[in-house]
Order: sequence, then C-alpha cells, then structure tokens
Amino acid sequence: MTAEFFPQEIIRKKRDGQPLTEAEINFMVKGITDNSVSEGQIAAFAMAVFFRDMPMQERIWLTRAMVHSGDVMDWSKADLNRPVVDKHSTGGVGDKVSLMLAAIVAACGGAVPMISGRGLGHTGGTLDKLDSVPGYNTAPDPELLTKVVKNVGCAIIGQTSDLAPADRRFYATRDVTATVESIALITASILSKKLAAGLDALVMDVKFGSGAFKEKYEEAEELAKSIVTVANGAGMPTTAIMTDMNQVLGHTAGNAIEVRETIDFLMGKNVDPRLLEVVTALCAEMLVIAGIADETTAPMAVHGALNSGSAAERFAQMIAALGGPTDLMTNPDKHLPIAPIRKEVIAPRRGYIAAMDTRAMGVAVMDLGGGRHKASDPIDYGVGLSNILGIGGKVGPRQPVAIIHARDEAQAARAEKRILNALVLSDEAIRPSAVIGKKITKEDV
Ligand code: URA
Repeated sequence: MTAEFFPQEIIRKKRDGQPLTEAEINFMVKGITDNSVSEGQIAAFAMAVFFRDMPMQERIWLTRAMVHSGDVMDWSKADLNRPVVDKHSTGGVGDKVSLMLAAIVAACGGAVPMISGRGLGHTGGTLDKLDSVPGYNTAPDPELLTKVVKNVGCAIIGQTSDLAPADRRFYATRDVTATVESIALITASILSKKLAAGLDALVMDVKFGSGAFKEKYEEAEELAKSIVTVANGAGMPTTAIMTDMNQVLGHTAGNAIEVRETIDFLMGKNVDPRLLEVVTALCAEMLVIAGIADETTAPMAVHGALNSGSAAERFAQMIAALGGPTDLMTNPDKHLPIAPIRKEVIAPRRGYIAAMDTRAMGVAVMDLGGGRHKASDPIDYGVGLSNILGIGGKVGPRQPVAIIHARDEAQAARAEKRILNALVLSDEAIRPSAVIGKKITKEDV
C-alpha cells in the first residue's frame, strides 16, 4: 500500500515547529478515526502540538477534519422553523445552567438539540444530572430526537458514537498523556462535537476561577478567543461569555439535588441571584446570536419565559417526551433520590465567607459518590450538597455553610472536613466579585 503521507513525518514537522498543510491534518485525523495511526503516534502528535501549538488556520482545519470524521446532523429537513442554537460550558461546580437554559430558549423560539457530556473529576456533567431522573432517555434514536426538538423545542441528550468519532479516540489518548490542556486541542475537541450537531449558532460559557478547568483568567480568555475565532472561521457564528467560577454556582452541587434546584428555579422558588444572572446572560446571548431578539429585548424575553411559567412547561414536556415522569415538577420528592444522611456543616467561628476553593467543593461531591475519579466509575445520584452559602455569606452556630447529603456517616465526615478546609473566613462583610465577565465576539479576536 502506498500512503500519501506518513504519520511520523507529520509528527516530525510539528515537533520541529514547521507549519502543517490541510491535507496533512486531514490524513492524521483520518488515521485517528480508522485506527491506521497508532496510539503512540496520537500521543506523540498531541505532545508536539502541546509544545509547538497550532496557528488558528491549523486549528480550523483540525476542527473541520474532526467534524467530518463522523455524521453531521442536518436539521434543515426537520422543518423546525426555528434557529438551531446551543450553549457549551467549559465546566464548573454546581453548573446546572444547561437544564434551565434549554427550556428557556425553547420557550423563546429557539431549537436547542443539546448534546451534553458526563462529569469527570471535580466538575459535574449535565448528562449525569439527567440520569438521576427515572426513565429519562439520554440516548433517543434520531427519529425521537427530531420529534422532541420539533414539538418541544429542546432535547438534552448524550453524545452518540457517530458524532466526531476522531475526538473520542484523540481525547482518550490526550487524557492519559498529559496533553488535555493544549488550547488548540481543546478548541478542536469542543467545536468538532458542536459543529457535528448541525448548529446555526453557539454561545460559549468560558469559566475562570478556583473551580474552573482554566483557573487563571488570562488562560480562560485565551481559550475563549481561540474558540470564537475557530468556530467563526469554520462557519458557525459563536460568541463567548466569561463567567466567574470562584464559588459554587447556585445553592446545590450533586446530581438529583441540582435537578431539584432547577425545578425550583423554573418555578420561581428560592432563585439564586448569581445563577439567575448567568442563565439570563447566556440565554439572552443565544437569542441575540440566533436573531430571535436584540440586546434590549432578549433579557426581557428570558424573564418573560421564567415568570409566565412557559420555560417550566417546556422543561416538563422535555422530561416527559424523553421517558421521564409526567409529574416531576409537582412531585420531585416522589422521583428524585436523596441520600439518607443529612449533616449540617457548621463553621468553627462566626464570620463571612471570604474565599472558596471551589475545586475542593467539587471533590467533596465526587468523594461522596456524586462524581467520577475515572470514566467507568458509577455515580450515586442521591448524594451532594444543598443550602451552600456563597462568598459574602454570613456563617455562625445556627447558620450552616452547607448541608451534606451522604450515604453513610463516614462519607459525611470526610465531606465536612473537605468543605471546611475549602473556605476562608473573614470578620468583615465581603462583596463577591461579579459573576458575568467580558463578552468575546469575533470582532475582539
Ligand atoms: N472538553 C472537551 O470536550 N474536550 C476537551 O479537550 C476539553 C474539555
């Protein structure tokens, strides 16, 4: 067999900092997909990119090649009569935004076929949260998916094996070779899946701070700029909003427990103001980028969908249409699991929460059984944290920092220790930093 290229020659070029051609990148991605490039060669290529990086044009070629390594969804035949728009977050602790956002944007006239992932490490995954809802099918066949998106306006599901298969093999190797952090490779990985979902437009939520994938603001902004440049370069209008992850988002962290907070939020009960700000900013940006509303009318449309109950209705319809209970909104206790041990975490002295190691809060949930150390780990959907106080929250003997929901006393004691170690207390009242940061558009990059 004669080959047009040899993987080792492409790796050598990248290793030596020479530019790659589109044909060479296509060859590598084809080889990753059909297994003709070995795992060792993928690892070497990833490490060469990690050190030598890729200019934007190479990132666009890599992304395009990964999109076309599998199926690309085509919504034009589905007669949706709505723009197809999605949001993707770089991940955080207590980030249940996707759950309410899909329903709100559907209620405002968008179509949201949201392909979500599972959690790994300290961050939670939207799919795990939905798996805590009995009967909910995160892997519907294409006919059912199309029907739900058409009738309800949104469907949150898992990635199918046919979407961007090159990313799955590439990511698995990156994960075990210390090459996940390459901004070029993260960009192509995230966008290949989003472009394969056939979106008209995308809004990125790029988090920074102690619970974020990219903790340093500068690195998070660099990632946002890369994604916005490459997505627009590949033909998908995309903007990014920088959001603060220096504290847990909302009152809860876990799986079923975050679905409970979502239901309350959509019903207007116990709404966390920072969570409302993030949901409003991202939904409004989706409505703007999809051409449904303008900068002035979009936030009003979002609040209208929440206040009228139409977003709650869409959420209930999505759950029922994908096999979940028809009375989840009115009877969450009947359906959502909750672990038997309830333990209040009391701070050692009175004061205010001045800082939070949000990653450690996520690790506390993971250690309770609510997250995974490795991809094959099972999840305990009923464990987690509720009543979490944020930065600036006043603590004392009668005001817990959080409530732990654990399977047993030993787990609860470990989580308590982790949470108390994660907090810095102050004697003075503290004002938390703004949750919404800069918006990055293609004009900014
Ligand atoms: N999430 C992804 O989907 N891919 C990455 O490379 C990193 C985070």
